[in-house]
Amino acid sequence: MSYSPVIGLEVHIQSKTESKMFCSCPTDYFGKDPNTCTCPTCLGLPGALPTINQSGLDQCIKLALALHCKINSVTKFDRKNYFYPDLPKGYQISQFDLPVGYEGYLEIDVDGDSRRVRITRVHQEEDTGKSIHEDQATLLDFNKSGVPLIEVVSEPDFTEVGEVTEYAKELKRIVRYLGVSDANMEKGQMRFELNISMKEDGTKGLPDYKVEVKNIGSVSVLEKVINFETRRQTKLLEAGEKPKQETRGLKDMTGETVSQRFKEGSSDYRYFPEPDLPPIEIGDDWMNELSGQVPELPRDRKVRFMRDYGLEQDVAGIITEVKSRADWFEEAVREQPKEVAKEIAKWLVGDLMSLLRKYKKKLTEFNNFYLIELVSLLTDKKISGSVAKEVLELPFKVKTYWVDGVMPSDIVKEKGLEQVSDESEVEKVVDQVIKENSGPVEDYRGGKENALQFLVGQVMRQTKGKANPKVADKLLREKLKT
Ligand SMILES: [Zn+2]
Repeated sequence: MSYSPVIGLEVHIQSKTESKMFCSCPTDYFGKDPNTCTCPTCLGLPGALPTINQSGLDQCIKLALALHCKINSVTKFDRKNYFYPDLPKGYQISQFDLPVGYEGYLEIDVDGDSRRVRITRVHQEEDTGKSIHEDQATLLDFNKSGVPLIEVVSEPDFTEVGEVTEYAKELKRIVRYLGVSDANMEKGQMRFELNISMKEDGTKGLPDYKVEVKNIGSVSVLEKVINFETRRQTKLLEAGEKPKQETRGLKDMTGETVSQRFKEGSSDYRYFPEPDLPPIEIGDDWMNELSGQVPELPRDRKVRFMRDYGLEQDVAGIITEVKSRADWFEEAVREQPKEVAKEIAKWLVGDLMSLLRKYKKKLTEFNNFYLIELVSLLTDKKISGSVAKEVLELPFKVKTYWVDGVMPSDIVKEKGLEQVSDESEVEKVVDQVIKENSGPVEDYRGGKENALQFLVGQVMRQTKGKANPKVADKLLREKLKT
């Protein structure tokens, strides 16, 4: 018998707001001293009352719209009751039966296929505090308590690990495009909860158990957990045992999990409406305003770039990964023919991005007209490829070029880097190279094609990259014909 995983994912996203979800404490607690971003409300002191942060709710609605959800015209908050030391109220404010959004979907590309993952719900809740275990003591920091979290719950639609990781990455791209969250995993701004069970191939319906794994902080650990659980559960099933319905925790970052507790159902949380907050009506005006703020999403943009500019999927994927990069590219190529756009894309994801990394610069600081002009000099055969590489790096090396906005044509003129295509000029160098390299010349005549590449390289070297390599290649072939 063979088994395949059935996986559902819950993603918690910390949205980008100035203040917490139900009080006015700041949300930029990262790196601050413990318990310095707190007030009676987020400390859960008796008598303190919550108020709703509208900008938090705006972000949640925007994300729900981007995930094609239906929006509840009336949404409300509920108390999810459970005890934990970092939850001083004894309940978390969350949403139960009337979440902001429901029945949406997200399209992802896996191995060249597009797949649709159904989204069960998108709701708003608050984060808890943090327990810090030190020696014999547990310390509590409530700076994170009350920070807005959006929870995105998927249907158990994933059947392989690659789908889950692509979904997580696509969701990360989307919240960044929307400006809903920075989704910085190192800062815990995006966390995953997994439910996974194994289904016997060929059977219908869902397995009659499921295992939950909470608090997964990165996509790579998520991937490892799925692989670990797939092996563990398959082994049990093959031995004739049914895996227990339970919640498991991470043992360490290797993806290994350990049993924590047997799973509670939603009835164990005794949800009831939050009496301190009114239900909220999401009217058409509000919704229209927010849907106007949803930009073209990364996957749609990728598909359009492939169609409009003739880009390969991986090139289009790299460019649309980050909104500012896609904006920069689109601004550069809007007026350009397809072939030039393709060439600009190639230079952007190749040489330019590696120079930006090398010199620790931002793409948005780099003048896109500089690349346009460089590529047009190249496609007009005014400069060779090796000169183009050199000229691209110059503004990074020479500060005044960068600051004064000196353009490639200025540099080419100033340094005399124009490509030499005039045959009689290239011929002189070709003759010289043939004279000086009798070994490779014989090799080529003896049938070694590589030797010709070497000779073209010598011509390029002697002309400091200025010779048109096609002309050099042609002349060499003619002269070495036996
Ligand atoms: Zn507070």
